[in-house]
Amino acid sequence: MNLIEQPPYGLSHNEKAPRLLHELKALTEHHRQACPAYARVLSAEGQWESSDANDLAQLPWLTVPLFKQRELRSIPDDAVFKVLTSSGTTGSVPSRIFLDNDTAKRQSQVLVRIMQEWLGKQRRPMLIWDHPSVIQNRASFSARGAGIQGLSFLGRHHTYALHDDMTLNLEAIRTFHKRFAGTPVFMFGFTFMVWRYGLQALQAQEIHLPFEDAVLLHSGGWKKLEAEAVSARIFNETARNQLGNLSVHNFYGMVEQVGSIFVACEHGHLHCPSYADILVREPGSWRVLPHQQAGVLQVLSVLPTSYPGHSLLTEDRGRILGEDDCPCGRTGKYFEALGRMAKVEARGCSDTFENAGGSQ
Ligand SMILES: [Zn+2]
Repeated sequence: MNLIEQPPYGLSHNEKAPRLLHELKALTEHHRQACPAYARVLSAEGQWESSDANDLAQLPWLTVPLFKQRELRSIPDDAVFKVLTSSGTTGSVPSRIFLDNDTAKRQSQVLVRIMQEWLGKQRRPMLIWDHPSVIQNRASFSARGAGIQGLSFLGRHHTYALHDDMTLNLEAIRTFHKRFAGTPVFMFGFTFMVWRYGLQALQAQEIHLPFEDAVLLHSGGWKKLEAEAVSARIFNETARNQLGNLSVHNFYGMVEQVGSIFVACEHGHLHCPSYADILVREPGSWRVLPHQQAGVLQVLSVLPTSYPGHSLLTEDRGRILGEDDCPCGRTGKYFEALGRMAKVEARGCSDTFENAGGSQ
């Protein structure tokens, strides 16, 4: 039985760990065979044998910036169905993630399965806290546009809450509210956009639009908000003040691992779904840290077969809070994300791999 067929938050550690290890070892072998650039990185780090890996910590990983520096794919040219790009914050060169039909399909299936846990099975009317041209400019198709498009098929009656100049489109919002205030709705946006151009603008204009049953999912870092001393608690309270009965869920994910996202439960804990996992490593030594200790997040996912992105060291900090015992009742590891690594840590991290890659 494959993990991908499992419900997102139903497996205990003892059920999940051996299957996850088995599937990730198989993926490592698959990519080593199919992607010569990946095989070179592995051999530069020493002779990795899948029989050596007895737990997740022993699996090899790539760093996220490596996808900006190299073309890493495990499929031939004519199998490329879509290329996802993300510029990130460290430079202007985008990551390039190559998808074939199978990987793209798997990503959508898993995304739906995870999101249904939070939204229910019915497609809800969807209010998007962004402006419509974010998805129209194909040439500069941003991570934001891709995120919105990726989630749009979970909703219906898509309504953009902002004008192109980032001001509130009050007519659209009021029409949406009038029509759907009493029914379950889905709101989505990037954390900073929702806060700055949505909630703060509503607050400044003293506009209250009470919805009876809304789920607001938002993703993106807290860094800009923390600089303004806006905590998750303040964010959620403000959202409820302006928009009524809302359950608010932040989620963590990246273009390098689309599909297997980590959604925060009602206790604010980001949950690993059955298809993905998290390790935390100490910058420099790169040893795996015990629960509660903060370090660099490594993300593992069983989804990518078209590119070697199943085990990635991110540039984000975080710490694992526990496993299988979150008060919300969902199983799996749960964690918090603590923003980007300091520049010097990030440099140390990419140096490690540049040297490894350079000695091939
Ligand atoms: Zn929880």
